[in-house]
Amino acid sequence: MANCIECGEKLKGRIDQKYCSEYCKSSFHYQNNKEKAASTYVRIDTALKQNRRILKKYNLSGLSQIRNELLVNEGFDFKYYTHTWNAKNGNLYHFCYEYGFRDLMDGKYMLITWQDYMN
Ligand SMILES: [Zn+2]
Repeated sequence: MANCIECGEKLKGRIDQKYCSEYCKSSFHYQNNKEKAASTYVRIDTALKQNRRILKKYNLSGLSQIRNELLVNEGFDFKYYTHTWNAKNGNLYHFCYEYGFRDLMDGKYMLITWQDYMN
């Protein structure tokens, strides 16, 4: 005899029954969705921290240039950043926390560090 996959109660119904009640069925799906949402959060959080670590590693002078492939090889994911900053000259920088990057469109990226005046 099978048991309810939510509460472990013995099942008395159809052979393909998985839950003892509607309550257990919705409770199971609620928990499942909550875990999925948490894993999305963890995945994005991990990607952001990894991006920050890579930018920090190569941003030694506070203003450096780096080849695109180097970032990619390190596992940098351009989708994930925390905020953007528009320089006076119109250049758009993307930031992962305090470390920023800008596509120089020639296979290189400019790396900068967040400054107070950027607020
Ligand atoms: Zn149950």
